[in-house]
Amino acid sequence: MDIISFHVHMDAPDTHTFTVHMHLPALGGDTLEVQLPVWTPGSYLIREYARHINTLQARNEQHVLPVEKTHKNSWKIQTAGTACVIIYSVYAFEESVRTCWLDDTRASIIPAAMFLHIPEVALPVHLHIHPYAGFSEIATALPEYQGDKWQRYAENADTLYDSPIEIGNHKTYHFDAAGIPHTFVIAGEGNYQPAKMIEDFKRIIDTEVRIFQHHPCPAYLTILQTSNTMRGGLEHMDSTSLIFKRLQFEPRESYLEFISLFAHEYFHLWNVKRLRPKALGPFAYGEENYTTSLWIAEGFTSYYDDLIVYRAGLYSEQEYLHVVEKNINQSENAPGKHVQSVAEASFDAWIKYYRQNENSDNNQVSYYVRGGVIANLLDLLIIHHSGATYCLDDVMREAYHQFYINRNTGYTEDEFREILTSFAGIDLLDFYADHIFGTKPLPLQTVFGYAGLELHNTLEQTIETDHGIVMNDRFIITSIRKNSAGEKGGLYVFDEVLAINGYRMHAGLQATLMQQMAAGETLQYMVSRAGFIQTRTITVQATDKVQYILKPAAQLTAAQQRTYAKWMYRVSEND
Ligand SMILES: [Zn+2]
Repeated sequence: MDIISFHVHMDAPDTHTFTVHMHLPALGGDTLEVQLPVWTPGSYLIREYARHINTLQARNEQHVLPVEKTHKNSWKIQTAGTACVIIYSVYAFEESVRTCWLDDTRASIIPAAMFLHIPEVALPVHLHIHPYAGFSEIATALPEYQGDKWQRYAENADTLYDSPIEIGNHKTYHFDAAGIPHTFVIAGEGNYQPAKMIEDFKRIIDTEVRIFQHHPCPAYLTILQTSNTMRGGLEHMDSTSLIFKRLQFEPRESYLEFISLFAHEYFHLWNVKRLRPKALGPFAYGEENYTTSLWIAEGFTSYYDDLIVYRAGLYSEQEYLHVVEKNINQSENAPGKHVQSVAEASFDAWIKYYRQNENSDNNQVSYYVRGGVIANLLDLLIIHHSGATYCLDDVMREAYHQFYINRNTGYTEDEFREILTSFAGIDLLDFYADHIFGTKPLPLQTVFGYAGLELHNTLEQTIETDHGIVMNDRFIITSIRKNSAGEKGGLYVFDEVLAINGYRMHAGLQATLMQQMAAGETLQYMVSRAGFIQTRTITVQATDKVQYILKPAAQLTAAQQRTYAKWMYRVSEND
């Protein structure tokens, strides 16, 4: 059987450069086109991985073959119908879960960023990793090939591209959860406690399997790399890559953020890797894959990641309610909520969410954060209207079985809405028009009211103490909030604030002056702008920001108590 074989060399890790040999069988035809993906699934940005490829050459047994670059990420080889080998180098020195890395401590291979494929030709892939002399460990969800851990097998390019590979001297732990073997590897030092993490992982996994009542993979791998500055994760078919700040595994609050990150990526095993919008699989690797549904794929996952930490017994009820408040406040305080809907945010992830700049808060919403709040509202709507018979779990389970297990097609917006509707028992067309495809204010008071909770805004009738400007530690303005006093007074991003009311700028000056100010009063800001000294008058105004706290209503009806109890998982579920 024809197979594509890759040999990966990393002999000089200090150069951060891999050498890849791609062996291709004779496939007929005079020429062959090979291509590198421009993005990796789960991270919706065109990353142009081909910019890290250098010195690509091809040869067959007899001679060097002519190579022509035909597109930014594709090459045409004059094979004359023979088997050939393509040899190229890959520069790898960007720390993240979406980019390759090589140094003298570890090698991380993100397959979409390294391995070429032949479009329209689905061949199995054999990998042979030749580790740097100092490396002894390898972890990947790809199965071993010929009983050698350095050789791996993928049935096609899709599987290959969904299986990151960690190489180095990482620590490896094995545990069983939900009857499935799990592997947990940690690359890098940190203040973590693996035994404690594994106990908590098991609780999270059990809680998630209970929702879907099915575990989709034969085995699961978690790769954790620790970092000085970074935090994030990327979901894959049978594995995940996590990156977390190495000294943030304590105290408890930041540790639970890590557990929430694990819960998030694990939830993706169902939501997005299998239950997915139609556009997200099979993937087009050479271009953007547009969907309006990331508010479901990522927003629902964000809602569940914290909820699951609570249900697993790791957050108290009060702690969880604070997390809910935090998410509501973050969502409500983005001026972009008046400009962009969560469906638009999903569609434009490629050009907006993944390309943040100083104006992003003003012109966009996060489909993670606002999508999560919307998931919370839908959960409460379903519980309320079904008399606490159903909740969002039922929707997720039904959608997973319908669109993945039974059909494996992915869903359209309309199909997902129909499932939500069937459990809510009410028409959701207006809700979708207003809050998913529209930018009308979310019905927070009404819907949290179903659970007997009132939102109290503690910033009501207070002044905008920062004039909507954010400064860095050198007092250079890095962002200005829409409709803030700073914007109205004519301050610009990149202005350097030199003085306020004649006082030389220093840390805390703005806050000190604002203690004595009332709305309508003015301040003089002296700034340096593009090398010129200028003065702007800022008029103090009331804040349009909110800081909600959730408070139980004085008197709860039986229906409110029932809704709250179901949401807070107080109703025992024996399955
Ligand atoms: Zn996610």
